[in-house]
Amino acid sequence: MGIVVQKYGGSSVADAEGVKRVARRIVEAKKAGNQVVVVVSAMGDTTDDLIDLANQVSPLPPARELDMLLTAGERISMAVLAMAIHDLGHEARSFTGSQAGVITDAEHGRAKIIDVTPGRIQAALAEGAIAIVAGFQGVSQTTKDITTLGRGGSDTTAVALAVALAADVCEIYSDVDGIFTADPRIEPHARKIPRISYEETLEMAAQGAKILHLRCVEYARRYDMPIHVRSSFSEKEGTWVTSADKVAAEDANQEGMTMEAAIITGVAHDRSQAKITIVGVPDKPGEAAAIFRVIADAQINIDMIVQNVSAAATGLTDISFTLPRGEGQTAMTALTRLQDSVGFASLLYDDSVGKVSIVGAGMSSSPGISARFFEALSEAGVNIGMISTSEIRVSVVVAEVQVTDAVRAAHAAFDLGSDEVEAVVYGGTGR
Ligand code: ASP
Ligand code: MG
Repeated sequence: MGIVVQKYGGSSVADAEGVKRVARRIVEAKKAGNQVVVVVSAMGDTTDDLIDLANQVSPLPPARELDMLLTAGERISMAVLAMAIHDLGHEARSFTGSQAGVITDAEHGRAKIIDVTPGRIQAALAEGAIAIVAGFQGVSQTTKDITTLGRGGSDTTAVALAVALAADVCEIYSDVDGIFTADPRIEPHARKIPRISYEETLEMAAQGAKILHLRCVEYARRYDMPIHVRSSFSEKEGTWVTSADKVAAEDANQEGMTMEAAIITGVAHDRSQAKITIVGVPDKPGEAAAIFRVIADAQINIDMIVQNVSAAATGLTDISFTLPRGEGQTAMTALTRLQDSVGFASLLYDDSVGKVSIVGAGMSSSPGISARFFEALSEAGVNIGMISTSEIRVSVVVAEVQVTDAVRAAHAAFDLGSDEVEAVVYGGTGR
């Protein structure tokens, strides 16, 4: 008997009807002969509502208590889901993250899983029960306090459990049919991607595609755990995320596939970034180091960095970088304190930017991809602010109001679209 881990997002269990629908689906998987472990997110917008509640009580809630509060959301869904399964005549037992053996570090709000000891889950399975686990939470090894893994962290719970239980597959259910060549809300002609490598998925997720929690994909890649991303609202086959070798082997197997796989797999976009420019930085050793040290000490994750050649006359240069908007004020405050010692002229802050990226393993071996991307942007009248690349990705920063145009232009330039509208967004949140 194989073990299947299924994860259901908040939009799949948004209300009692949703919980019952998901319960029927879980029972089907059990009846098909699997041992079933389910990871569930908080119902609908519960997590947001709980954060709002906390902020009404205190402008700066203690991280420990906020985690304790937020984990309640997943506890509600796990218990009602177990009840719904009982009602269908099957045995189900719910477990908190801590009870399921999800051991983390002590970083509240962004804890990392360091071990999974799923003894109680295995015992429940051995007794023929379906195990339901609260997503996005664990317990700190050192402080023994309850922690959360960061927004969207239930995906990571699911993959970590799948690995610890040596499951055959980790199924991630949301309200869309899989991973698409672009966000279907922006590009209605987006196509479902049948197979995609961990590496490409990581790039898509890191560049803002709201498909999977980034750390869940890292985890899956490290342990080579296949993920099947699909909708809980339909029976359709979704997107398989596996190793690049498996993707290539499957592609070769498929009849009617073109000889060469597509060069570009998808287009991702991100509206959550801001840009800081440090104007007039003296062009001498140690300046960039000093600047990025204070950013690092403030625990801020930056993304693109661009430094200009310095003007010969002044010996001064400008440095720009992008970072999450939510961290913008912290970064500006930290940099302002540095102004006298580094001696730069001024700071500029711009949060009306967006990032658009094309991702595809095929680009590392085909020239001209950047040119085609930039030509498409220029034809759409989109100006490029910054550029960065990896082996399998090209990203640009553009004005936020032009993100939609840029996504559509890139999607068309690489022939990613389908003639029909394939994507159905069943729930509305994409989670
Ligand atoms: N309920 C949590 C959130 O909304 C975790 C999750 O959905 O994965 O972020
Ligand atoms: Mg959620």
